Amino acid sequence: MRLISIFIFIFSCICLKAIAAAPDGTQANAYSYYLQGELPKATAGYLRMAARDPSNPEPLLNAAMCWRQAGKYRLAAQTMDMAVILARNNPDIQAETGWLKFHLADYTAAKAAFELALQLAPKHERATLGLASVYSNLGDREKTVELLNRYKQLRPDFAGVDYIIAWNYMNFKMYKEAETALIEALRKDVSFTEARLPLAGIYARDGKFNEAWNQYRRVLDYAPGHPVASKAIKVLEGKLTKQPEEILPPFKITRPLTMEPMDVINNLSKSVKMRVGIGTGKTGKQGRNDFLKFKSFEGLTITGKTSGKLYAEIPPDQEWTVESSEERTLLKDSSGTIYGRFQGPLILASKDAKNGSVIFESSKKCKNPWFAYSDRQYRGAIEIYPIQGKDLGVVNIIEMEQYLMGVVPSEVAAQWPYESLKAQAVIARTQAIIRRARGGAHKADGYHICDGEHCQAYKGRGNEANSTSRAVLDTEGELLLHRGKPAYTFYHSNCGGWIQASSEVSGWGDSSYLYDHPDSVNPPPSSYFPKMNFRFKAGGGINISSETALSPWKFHLWLTDNPEANCNYPGKVRAAEYRWMKIIRHKDLDFRVKRDYSIGDLREIVPLRRSRSGNVNSIKLVGSKKTVTVTKEHLIRNLLGFAPLKSTLFEIEINRFRDGRIRNYWFYGGGWGHGIGLCQSGAAGLAGKYNKNYLEILEFYFPGTALRKIKYIKKKG
Ligand SMILES: [Zn+2]
Ligand SMILES: [Zn+2]
Repeated sequence: MRLISIFIFIFSCICLKAIAAAPDGTQANAYSYYLQGELPKATAGYLRMAARDPSNPEPLLNAAMCWRQAGKYRLAAQTMDMAVILARNNPDIQAETGWLKFHLADYTAAKAAFELALQLAPKHERATLGLASVYSNLGDREKTVELLNRYKQLRPDFAGVDYIIAWNYMNFKMYKEAETALIEALRKDVSFTEARLPLAGIYARDGKFNEAWNQYRRVLDYAPGHPVASKAIKVLEGKLTKQPEEILPPFKITRPLTMEPMDVINNLSKSVKMRVGIGTGKTGKQGRNDFLKFKSFEGLTITGKTSGKLYAEIPPDQEWTVESSEERTLLKDSSGTIYGRFQGPLILASKDAKNGSVIFESSKKCKNPWFAYSDRQYRGAIEIYPIQGKDLGVVNIIEMEQYLMGVVPSEVAAQWPYESLKAQAVIARTQAIIRRARGGAHKADGYHICDGEHCQAYKGRGNEANSTSRAVLDTEGELLLHRGKPAYTFYHSNCGGWIQASSEVSGWGDSSYLYDHPDSVNPPPSSYFPKMNFRFKAGGGINISSETALSPWKFHLWLTDNPEANCNYPGKVRAAEYRWMKIIRHKDLDFRVKRDYSIGDLREIVPLRRSRSGNVNSIKLVGSKKTVTVTKEHLIRNLLGFAPLKSTLFEIEINRFRDGRIRNYWFYGGGWGHGIGLCQSGAAGLAGKYNKNYLEILEFYFPGTALRKIKYIKKKG
């Protein structure tokens, strides 16, 4: 725990005085310039405040953070030096001074500042990491390792720590220790693709060719054409002792899944049918389905969709295939003999319509990785149809409530508190109904909704669990409405502690219930939100008093700390989803940026606009040839690393060599996903830590909406 609370408290008191002393709203202006990404103007505003209130370090700290964000480290360090004079005994200020000097490669000054911070607060996290980094650059192995291990105890869940430890071990040629640390980093954060490169290198060096090949392959999944990985994997292919499918064995479904102890299917009413695009890619479009192998434990029928004619009956467990062939669907029986060639859509259905399923067996022959590496199992029927110039389309036709049984456990952990599973069922149903009614993004694709993150994750029957199926049944037909219409119940994995308003992100609309607020109920008085207050009303609903926004300096402390929030939920939510840290080497990021933008060599990255939640909404990439600004949420996330950044809630620190060249980028971030609407981890926290029921959870994230139960039209059959 960081020792900031008392200082924050003092700052907020002084701050109030500052506002009173600045009737022209200088503070508000400086802050709004900061949000707009007008960093020189923001800095000027904060410096004017500092001149007017010379004993207050806060405006100087804010100015320093704005300089830093703008990439002006020297100016930031000078401003910070002025703040230090006013608050010499504040370990946070000392530590950040140390970091600015460290990133400027002034190790003597950095060391002095970190040591002072640690004298003031011996367990100061950022000072411990900073001092370790200084010793690492000075080549002092013993002190580096000792301090890094101390830091690891302070932030045991931080994957970035293990990554830093690994690089240090590698610098000291201690490869065995580096390997252990990298594996640890990946255990804590599987999406830390950057850590796979050095791990692959260590494996290859030790003659573990299969393992090295596996890691390089996973790097190439995210960074196709990466020069080191592409070259290495070619060399390794000749040295493998196992077949690639033995190194990465596919997931197999062997017997039907039985729902015990509760048979949800028998209790659900018959609901409307959804058309779900299966095995879709990032944009929700169909994948490359050129070859599919399928079967059913109960036996299958194949019918023509238009003619209604029964074409084939397939016995239980027998595998048949479909292939794409000259804009026809080529059906082959279990012996590989051509059974027929079809122009129109085919419907595959299990003979047990109620409890049966269709299974796609994994096959490396399929170009779509969804079907290549894992068996897939679906309730309902499957429609297969040729797409002009594009292989086969695969759509799951399934009743709404059965579809949701596959969605809820694909979106959240089935072990999460039950009330949060019910909230998830309601918002997933509401999203699906909106898409079904309006056609939406996938109208032209021939389905209502896709099965990926683009719409909502749906992994079919193979993923179902008792708890999540029961949550679907318990909320059957329940939708969230706003003024009588289904509400836009957007949701994301983890907000990082502060929900972003939809109006601040381009393309997300401006709904009153998609508002901006800390994801926190009644925070303790010493937290970052001293003035904020949430209270649940006795009869339902919540009171929200206006909250204080975080100034650039407080935001920095908040983001690099591990503050209390609904979604900070150790034991249920991975720590790396709430707070994360990544170090990306300059050459890796330069490679990544060049793939999408011809700006020449990457010189600088400057986050510009931020939402009040802190999410970055535009970044400037300065290259040797030109400068571009990227504004789309997913483009920003996809650009900054091999695997996409978990969210846009981040700060970048640029670390340079003594000669001014960039060495690497340190990203400190929070959350996972777009941060709008409901925070799934926060919902779990509200239910598990604060005992809230699903109605209270929905009211917290979507105030002003109402729950309504729809009745499905019952059809016979
Ligand atoms: Zn979609
Ligand atoms: Zn949250």
